[in-house]
Amino acid sequence: MSITGIKGMNDILPGEVETWQFLEVAARRVFALHGFSEIRVPVVEKTELFCRSIGETTDIVEKEMYSFCDKGGTSLTLRPEGTAAVMRAFIQHKLHALDPVAKLYYLGPMFRYERPQKGRYRQFHQIGAEAVGVDDPRIDAQILAMLQHFFDEIGLDDLDLQVNSLGCPQCRPLYRTQLVDFLETRLGDLCDDCRRRYTTNPLRVLDCKATGCGEATAAAPAMLDHLCEGCDEHFTAVRLHLEDIGARFTINRRMVRGLDYYTRTTFEMVTANLGAQNAVAAGGRYDGLVRQLGGPALPGIGFAMGVERLVLLMGEDRRAVQPPDIFLAALGDVAQRRVFSLMHDLQRRGVRAEIDYQGRSLKAQMRRADKLGAARVLIVGEDELTRGVGQLRNMGDSTQREVSLDELPRELGAK
Ligand code: ATP
Ligand code: MG
Repeated sequence: MSITGIKGMNDILPGEVETWQFLEVAARRVFALHGFSEIRVPVVEKTELFCRSIGETTDIVEKEMYSFCDKGGTSLTLRPEGTAAVMRAFIQHKLHALDPVAKLYYLGPMFRYERPQKGRYRQFHQIGAEAVGVDDPRIDAQILAMLQHFFDEIGLDDLDLQVNSLGCPQCRPLYRTQLVDFLETRLGDLCDDCRRRYTTNPLRVLDCKATGCGEATAAAPAMLDHLCEGCDEHFTAVRLHLEDIGARFTINRRMVRGLDYYTRTTFEMVTANLGAQNAVAAGGRYDGLVRQLGGPALPGIGFAMGVERLVLLMGEDRRAVQPPDIFLAALGDVAQRRVFSLMHDLQRRGVRAEIDYQGRSLKAQMRRADKLGAARVLIVGEDELTRGVGQLRNMGDSTQREVSLDELPRELGAK
């Protein structure tokens, strides 16, 4: 029996990987325009890092982490998200001492033990960005604008950017108590999960996908109506800056985030086209996180996009393996050797060249060139070889002309 991959962990094959590369290139370009630099952190961290940052009562820490003991007996976890690890590195390398403002981005695999389904996997990929050190609401607006800039750049413009504020340790506890009081009156209508967590993580109930819970909490109090003065001013300013730059967004008073560390501005990029997996990107402020992890008291804000969901939204359009610029068809051993060195010369000069490896008939070689989508084919038979030429065929209009083999690179515009 052959060995298969792990459930919920996908291979990304040629034909699809081009869409991934397109998204990665676009993200790097847009983020660099906004002054962000890449940071690469390991995919494994001490388990404690995630428990302390994400929060013990969150779905991730309660049931989704891939944790194991290494041979030295240390509990390690495959990272379920990027922010905690990036902040760990930020603190460890004292990046704040180099520059009071750190703008960082990352991309790579994340791991969560979830029930695999469309848009939800056990190994998935995120592209994320974090800005540490700035309280000013302009950074909130810039992060949101950068997210929208990226989506415009990749041609996805029918998404809804939803924004909310989750308050701070000053105003949230009071709101939380009011929410718990409200939920107590609706317990009978909540799902089992929510009945269990309404006291430990009441905000999460507002985010429950079960229809019963949505209806039961329709009239629940909203954090937005209970913000303290500081949070209220901050949120008003974020909205003002977003309006100044003409950003498209809506306020979603019910939006919460599944991780404990979020404060103030929170947001999601939502699509109507992926069923229940409707969030393509999500993020927010995490003003207490850096200190909580043992660093200085610095504010932060960031987001993460789910690459698999982006790829699903991009559709089939970009699924194309790059075709060769030229296919070199040879007849006979000597011509094959000549064509082989010609291919190397062309490749080193920037031309995507392909050959046949099986010594097949001209007809079979032409079929392969066609299948690969080569724009041109060079045909070199024994007669051509003795004269140092080949027949250069344009596959688009089927015209053909003789060219000198020595001149071919120049003919093809090689460097
Ligand atoms: P969801 O509500 O869909 O479970 P989440 O709140 O758990 O999302 P975040 O932790 O905020 O997600 O991660 C940011 C983004 O990463 C999500 O908006 C989504 O696009 C993507 N994402 C999260 N979990 C998965 C997963 N298991 N498979 C694929 N993508 C995921
Ligand atoms: Mg989740």
